[in-house]
Amino acid sequence: MTPPTGHWPVIGHEWAVEHLSRALTHGRMRHAYLITGPDQVGKTTLARAFAAALNCTGEPVPCGQCRACTLIAKDAHPDVTLIAAEAGGNTLKIDQVRALQQTLALRPFEARYRIVILRNFHQANPAAANALLKTLEEPAPNVVLLLTATSADLLLPTIVSRCQPLHLRPLPLQTVYQALVERWGASPEQAQTLARLSGGRIGWAIRALADPSLLALRHDALATLHTLLQSSRRERFALVERLPQDKGTLTEILGIWQSFWRDVLLAATGSQAPVTNYDYAGQITALALDAGPQKAERALLATNRTLDHLTRNANTRLALEVLALEYPGL
Ligand SMILES: [Zn+2]
Repeated sequence: MTPPTGHWPVIGHEWAVEHLSRALTHGRMRHAYLITGPDQVGKTTLARAFAAALNCTGEPVPCGQCRACTLIAKDAHPDVTLIAAEAGGNTLKIDQVRALQQTLALRPFEARYRIVILRNFHQANPAAANALLKTLEEPAPNVVLLLTATSADLLLPTIVSRCQPLHLRPLPLQTVYQALVERWGASPEQAQTLARLSGGRIGWAIRALADPSLLALRHDALATLHTLLQSSRRERFALVERLPQDKGTLTEILGIWQSFWRDVLLAATGSQAPVTNYDYAGQITALALDAGPQKAERALLATNRTLDHLTRNANTRLALEVLALEYPGL
């Protein structure tokens, strides 16, 4: 019998919830999971929900009411640690992993399981990743590690092979729309716009609803891209120079460019799939005709590579200059 899973505090990703819920019911949890998927698709939310389910004292599990559930939802439970390597700043350092290993050697303070959520593990530096391998090889009982990353390809294969993989895909736009209206009080018009622009990344849609500056950033980023494509080599360098320095914002901008090039590539190959940046459909069609599928693909791949460079802490300026030169001209 499949246990009920509708009460997990997770939007969509039903199969993943069901998988974890069933493992729990049958006592067949793995000691490490790797949750992958695009930025803001719900990876950390799923990890938190699983942590709550593992330690919940109410029912149905996770009840959302007991001490464990409420503390975990606030990232305030003494046995559940969230360590983030954020796009905006520091990579996960070896010191953090060592401190973590000391904590993991202790029994849980109050819960059944000691859980560590290692967020954006693809941004861990190599020494830290290697240090974690030990923990994955000799797991203490009652310890569950939940790693999140945008892609398993960005991690050491030895790490990936020791984790149970769960790959989260973008949610159907209808699911995002419904959640925005029913749970976050968006108007139908707002919800429709944000669901389409989110490309199925529910976290982005919720953030954009609360913070209109995200939509402004998107318009600025697309305007900059348009100017860049019309600019000479020298002007492109100057434009790149004027981009924000902050890595979090840069990652956001490159993510927007990435979705734009994906749209151009779709249009250039004559795909019928709906574009994400539907309010720029005219520009997308024109660019698709002008550049053709090969140049569009090259631009998309170059954008993906630059995003990887950024997460790996490479020389940001240089990576952006290389990117600016790889984009086609209008
Ligand atoms: Zn509970």
